[in-house]
Amino acid sequence: MKVESDAILTCTSCGAEGSHELLYLSEHMCASRCANCGHAVVYSHNLYADYAKDLADRTSRLPISLASKVFRAPVDVLRWPFKIARKPFGLLKELNYVTVLERGPRRPKVFGKSKV
Ligand SMILES: [Zn+2]
Repeated sequence: MKVESDAILTCTSCGAEGSHELLYLSEHMCASRCANCGHAVVYSHNLYADYAKDLADRTSRLPISLASKVFRAPVDVLRWPFKIARKPFGLLKELNYVTVLERGPRRPKVFGKSKV
């Protein structure tokens, strides 16, 4: 999963030309989100399935990645327990990001009135 936030595009919702976040899963652009209004456009049929595939791809490369890191920087192995402890939070953050894109921006709650 990669998020690029330096793309300048014109939003189809608010019409403003400005910064957009681009979500890449498995090297494919799957969604974009306007930084001005939060409007998201999903280019994938199933964002969750693409995220699961991306996560599986990263997991399958993990043993090779870890082995190469051991040889490049053996001292960094001492930090791995801390990285492993934080990993579930990182995955939850990624999943939350995908969910926000899939569902669109949150609308403010108006108590006592139903906002359409
Ligand atoms: Zn916008």
